[in-house]
Amino acid sequence: MEPQFTIDNLLGTSFACDCGREHSTCFSKMILEAGALQKLPSLLGEYGYQYPYLICDTNTYRVCGQQVCGILDAAKIHYEMIILQSPLEGDLPADEEAFGRVCMAFPKECDVVISIGAGTINDLGRYLSYITGREFLLVLTAPSMDGCVSGVAPLIQNHLKITFPAHAPLALIGDLKILSEAPMKMLSAGVGDILGKYNCLTDWKLSAIVNQEYYCSTIEGIMRSAIDKTMEAAKHLKERRAEDIRTLTEGLVLSGIAMDFAGNSRPASGAEHHLSHFFEMQFLFDGIPAVLHGTKVGIGTVITLGFYNQLANIERPDFDKLRKQITERPDMDAWTAEIKRAYREGAPMVLELEEKARKNDPEKLRQRLRQIEVHWDEIQALAASAPKAEEIAGILKSLDAPITPEEVGVCREYVADGILYAKELRDRYTVLQLLWDIDMLAQMKESVVK
Ligand SMILES: [Zn+2]
Ligand SMILES: [Zn+2]
Repeated sequence: MEPQFTIDNLLGTSFACDCGREHSTCFSKMILEAGALQKLPSLLGEYGYQYPYLICDTNTYRVCGQQVCGILDAAKIHYEMIILQSPLEGDLPADEEAFGRVCMAFPKECDVVISIGAGTINDLGRYLSYITGREFLLVLTAPSMDGCVSGVAPLIQNHLKITFPAHAPLALIGDLKILSEAPMKMLSAGVGDILGKYNCLTDWKLSAIVNQEYYCSTIEGIMRSAIDKTMEAAKHLKERRAEDIRTLTEGLVLSGIAMDFAGNSRPASGAEHHLSHFFEMQFLFDGIPAVLHGTKVGIGTVITLGFYNQLANIERPDFDKLRKQITERPDMDAWTAEIKRAYREGAPMVLELEEKARKNDPEKLRQRLRQIEVHWDEIQALAASAPKAEEIAGILKSLDAPITPEEVGVCREYVADGILYAKELRDRYTVLQLLWDIDMLAQMKESVVK
């Protein structure tokens, strides 16, 4: 079956795809309208839930949670609630402390978990509901990232952002009035998270060429619909018209469904996300308030698309020379020292990943170089198909979003380290690894840092 890529057609669906896999999502209902919160009691009744556990932070309580409590009280629905303290500046990190608080306040009699929020609150609720075997409902407060209906939960463990398996919400409620009053930086972050897909999809195709990684064109098609919607919404986003807020939210939801279908974040997270995660870790280590996920992704996208733009125009590498250097690249002692320096407290997990994945194994590099050599023209054509970094930067700028790491307080040293080492965060092939493979990464890093 070839599904049509509208949310209605994808809700709660399950189908055998041309790619050979079965795709499914448990996300089965979306109420996206002004006054949508009023429908929460009937939604709970429909699913037969009687005792929800609500998770919010002081910000989302103020903009939405309070109203939800009033509605549940009026409907005489008994509930428990935790309100996490929002930091004065920045976003609440989804780490052990936040998750610990959410777990400790969870009464085992509650039969469903409801997150009232956007990023962190959503990830905490999604993971708690998953490990406790409860269903998950989401009351969205801002269209700021695409994790809303995805099946994975990115959480910070031992200073590293780890993507934990989880499940999509059963239903999402988005009150268009509340969503359209979200701060502009949250709306532009939502756009940034989706613009990053231009890079993700290119990275994914690149890996399909170099490593024969699994690829699904249906999932790509859903992601392209998400990008189209977001581009449409971005044009007039500053006017905060309800229809544009709806379009942006739908774009984010489609992206989440695409991830859920893939069973991991591959279609939605490439080098731009790795850069974003790397910067986020540095913020955590330095005790600097976190910057919104989509804002950092937007910045990462401008950098990584710039790499694709350059890749499209470089000379064919000297593969014989590259082959001769294989056994010296990288010098693992020097590499380990660099990882310890760049990742600080997070280094043990990065080193552990390398133990398992062996990304830097000379034999693997030899195989990749062989593929890159054979498919060089195809790789350059792929790179040429990526949008221009300036075009994406222009869209973000028109929404007053930052486009350089400097604007959000990332210093040059972290930018340089991110470009060189963000690829070590995951065993996932991206443009950063390709540039390293052909020994161009250090050189291209210089062009960005300058
Ligand atoms: Zn497929
Ligand atoms: Zn993202």
